[in-house]
Order: sequence, then structure tokens, then C-alpha cells
Amino acid sequence: MSTKKIAVVGGGTMGSGISLTAATHGIEAVIIDINEDQLGRAKSYHEKQCARAVSKERMTQDESDKAIARLSYVSSMSEASGAEWAVEAATENVEIKKKIFTQMQENFGNEVVLATNTSSISITDLASAVPEAEHRVIGMHFFNPVPVMKLVEVIRGDNTSEETTAATVALSELMGKVPVLANDFAGFVSNRVLMPMINEAFHAWSDGVAEPKDIDSIMKLGCAFPMGPLRLADYIGLDVCRDIMMVMYKGLNQNEKYLPNEKLVALVEAGSLGDKSGQGVYNYDKG
Ligand code: NAD
Repeated sequence: MSTKKIAVVGGGTMGSGISLTAATHGIEAVIIDINEDQLGRAKSYHEKQCARAVSKERMTQDESDKAIARLSYVSSMSEASGAEWAVEAATENVEIKKKIFTQMQENFGNEVVLATNTSSISITDLASAVPEAEHRVIGMHFFNPVPVMKLVEVIRGDNTSEETTAATVALSELMGKVPVLANDFAGFVSNRVLMPMINEAFHAWSDGVAEPKDIDSIMKLGCAFPMGPLRLADYIGLDVCRDIMMVMYKGLNQNEKYLPNEKLVALVEAGSLGDKSGQGVYNYDKG
């Protein structure tokens, strides 16, 4: 297996990381985003990350130049011809993702695997948007920050073929990752376990058990977590956390334990999305 070019649909936090990881592992990546500003942000993230890797001697200037040359930024899928693989990393919303799957099927060849980086949405449900290509649809769930985190949670839908699974495992390894299989339940394994903990930290804050800084310190020092749950929520994106909780609530028998905490929802509605907006549980304006 030697994929040479991939298309990454969505150039936000995850799409930027997936494309950079591909490029530093010798794979060309075309980033497609409907938001031109986001394409600019993805490009400057790539340049900054590569410059930093050179300054820390994790990469030579030549390797950095080659990685940057493998990246391109476009606003329409029709400009990403020749991609041998497509991975969708757009907003966590079923309707948006289904529309993207239809476009991916129309724009890319009939051999191309259509992967999704969804954190929680059923792969079988997303595949239903492209009935003729269900065997080529698979979950390829990277973790943030993608260049650093080793895991790819690989999720097969009901009709995903063995060939698609094997190819996804191979591409993950080519990108320096460790693929681990999980079954197609809302939230899979990672978010089924992580999100209720993050939500509970918001409940603890709302109930006045402790202030965010202390909740995070307790979980870091007491459980040896590298980051407290509220800091992690800001890092993931509070909107992403809310959306994942809602997908789990709807997909797991409307069990109320998956309903997002009111404080979390209020922050999202106020535009406080965490690191990406400069304000979330914490304020990042002054670093
Ligand atoms: P984000 O909000 O940072 O980026 C989403 C991007 O998708 C935006 O730039 C938006 O303009 C773009 N987009 C929306 N509709 C589009 C379309 N039709 N065509 C092209 N681009 C479109 O979100 P993110 O954090 O990068 O999350 C993306 C996906 O990855 C979600 O499914 C999320 O659940 C998943 N995920 C997120 C994390 C995390 O820590 N943030 C971790 C693992 C998986």
C-alpha cells in the first residue's frame, strides 16, 4: 500500500493536523474547506509547525520544504482530482457530513476509500448517503493534536468491506499511527468514555464543587491526567464536545446521562468555544 495523494475535507483543527501528518510522511494532501479564512489558518499552522520542527531539530529544512510542497489548499472538491483517498473532517453534524459524502462520491473515483474523522456519528448512517459506495466508507478517527497522538480508532460500518478496513489500517500505519478497531456505536470507545467525564466536570463546576482550575488540578494530580477535563474540553472545542454529547444522547437510547451540561451549552451559544475562539472555560487572550 503506498497512497501518494489524499483529499482532506475540512481544514479546521483536525483537517489541518491530518493533512500535516500525511505531508510529513511523504503523502500529498489537498485540504478542501468552504471557508477561505480557514484555509489561510490551516496554511499558517502548517508553516509554523514545520518551522518549529526545524528549529527543534526534529526535521531538516529540506524535509520541511518537501512537506510544505506536498500541501495544497482549495475551496472545492473538483479541484482535488487525483486523490487516492478521501477523509472527511468537517463539522460534527450528520446532515453536513452526509452532503459531503455525496459530493465525495461524485468527485472522486470509484476505487477511493471515503473515510470520516467523526468523533461519534454512526458510520453505517453516514454510509447510507452513498448507497453505491457503502463498502468503501469507514471511520478513521484521529486524535488531537494529530501530529502527536498515536491512535487512530478505526470503525467499520455494517457494510464496510475487508479490503477497505485493511487499506485503512495500512494508511494509518503509513502515517505513523497505531490503528485500533472499534464497533459502530455512537461515540465508539474513546468518546463514550471521555465525554461523560468532561460533562461531569462541568456538572461539578455548576454544582459549586470547585472552580475549574481546581477541578483540573485535582484530576491532573490525582489521576495523573496530562490535562484536566475542562482544559481538555477547551482544547477539543466546546462546540465539538456539545455536538458529540448530542450524537451520543440520540444514538444511545436518549439516555439523559449524555445530555450536555447547561453551562457547556451556554458557553457555546455565547461563542466561547475554547482555544479556537480565545475564550472557553478559560481565557486565552493573554496566553
Ligand atoms: P473545526 O470546527 O475546527 O473544523 C471544521 C471545518 O469544517 C471548518 O473549517 C468548516 O469550515 C469546515 N466545513 C464545514 N462544512 C464543510 C463542507 N461542506 N466542506 C468543506 N469544509 C467544511 O472542527 P474539528 O475540531 O476539526 O472537527 C472536525 C471533525 O473531527 C468533527 O467530526 C469532530 O467531531 C472530529 N474530531 C475532532 C476532534 C477535536 O479534538 N477537535 C478530535 C477527533 C475528531
